[in-house]
Amino acid sequence: MSVKSYWESSSKTFDVVIIGAGFLGSWTAYELSKDTNLSVAVIESSSLSHGASTKNAGFACFGSATELLGDIGLLGKEKSLEITQKRLNGINKIRRILGDSAISFDNCGGYEIFLQNDLNPNESDIQELNGLLQSSLSMQPFSFLTKQQISALGFSHNVQSVIANPLEGSINPVKTLETLHTLAKSQGVQFFFRTQFRDFNAENGTISVVSDGVESAIFTKKVIYCTNAFTKQQDIAPGRGQVLITSVIENLPLRGTFHYDEGYVYFRNVDSNEGRRILIGGGRNKDFTTEESLEFVSNPMIIEYLQQFLSKILPDEIFYTIEQSWTGIMGFSKDKLPIVKEVSANEFVGFACNGMGVALTPIISEELVTLVKFSM
Ligand SMILES: Cc1cc2nc3c(=O)[nH]c(=O)nc-3n(C[C@H](O)[C@H](O)[C@H](O)COP(=O)(O)OP(=O)(O)OC[C@H]3O[C@@H](n4cnc5c(N)ncnc54)[C@H](O)[C@@H]3O)c2cc1C
Repeated sequence: MSVKSYWESSSKTFDVVIIGAGFLGSWTAYELSKDTNLSVAVIESSSLSHGASTKNAGFACFGSATELLGDIGLLGKEKSLEITQKRLNGINKIRRILGDSAISFDNCGGYEIFLQNDLNPNESDIQELNGLLQSSLSMQPFSFLTKQQISALGFSHNVQSVIANPLEGSINPVKTLETLHTLAKSQGVQFFFRTQFRDFNAENGTISVVSDGVESAIFTKKVIYCTNAFTKQQDIAPGRGQVLITSVIENLPLRGTFHYDEGYVYFRNVDSNEGRRILIGGGRNKDFTTEESLEFVSNPMIIEYLQQFLSKILPDEIFYTIEQSWTGIMGFSKDKLPIVKEVSANEFVGFACNGMGVALTPIISEELVTLVKFSM
């Protein structure tokens, strides 16, 4: 059994300890340590992050037109416009604070596609949505592409119509998280990687953690859980996401972030020195029950569905193979809204949720920090 040295076991005390170094925990650490003397630590069970933040598709998006129309039906106009505005503010904040080149931001635009036999979007609904968004975004983001513009993207004839949105783009999620960690560390935040949170004793302010099989204690006044799907709260359910990436495809014109089926399927180009690939993910709605899981394993039925979808939207003469596939775990709240709350004295939960955390976490972290600071 490994035994800690005197130096390793000397006590560590912080004003605030955050559990989870994904986007939400890391933005929260950045916000807490900015312009304050608070000592802040982040405890993370993996070597960087192991949930959604490093497994995602890298869409810096705020929702496809049909998804936003669905949200309005679910949440009402006011709430859904408020959340859309927060997502857009989040995208702008990531770019401003971290810088486009550090996160490989590509201002490629977002698209929603519709196939033959799909229920085509009603133009008047899209115009109404544009009208609603005009006041908060100062523009009308959604427009239909012409047939010529659709074929310039390189789709097969199965793609019938496309709605474009110039405000969306793509990022490299790992570069984004690493840049954020570097920034937080430069403000004095201490990260404890490969360290598993076990429990918190609020009476004496002791967090018990396990690292390399050895249990130790960290002392703090406040704990913030940013553990997303792994948060032990009844109002947060896990949802697994499947992602596939193709081999390099020669002369592939497709560039952008694409949504299909109210965002349940998504794909984008991923460029490197070797050339351009397609990343495709989603399909959770084909087997909701199995996919409500914390296990990082693939569902063969969903892989098959995504592969078939890809072959349907690309022309027959395009050759590729699937080179890599992985899963990540998202968290979902029943009403699709973020959660920011004090769950008991000195314990807080932040949850940005529902598959669009890239854009939402920078803003939800501000709300979380306001709540924690108010309690100090
Ligand atoms: C496949 C997939 C594709 C996605 N695509 C997109 C996209 O294109 N655009 C977009 O905006 N969003 C996307 N999302 C959603 C987005 O990734 C999430 O909303 C966001 O990353 C959530 O960040 P988080 O910090 O709340 O959670 P997480 O990234 O899940 O972080 C939680 C962290 O807590 C740690 N943790 C858990 N338990 C413990 C413990 N006991 N002790 C210590 N650490 C612990 C985990 O290791 C993890 O690092 C996608 C998600 C998935 C899974």
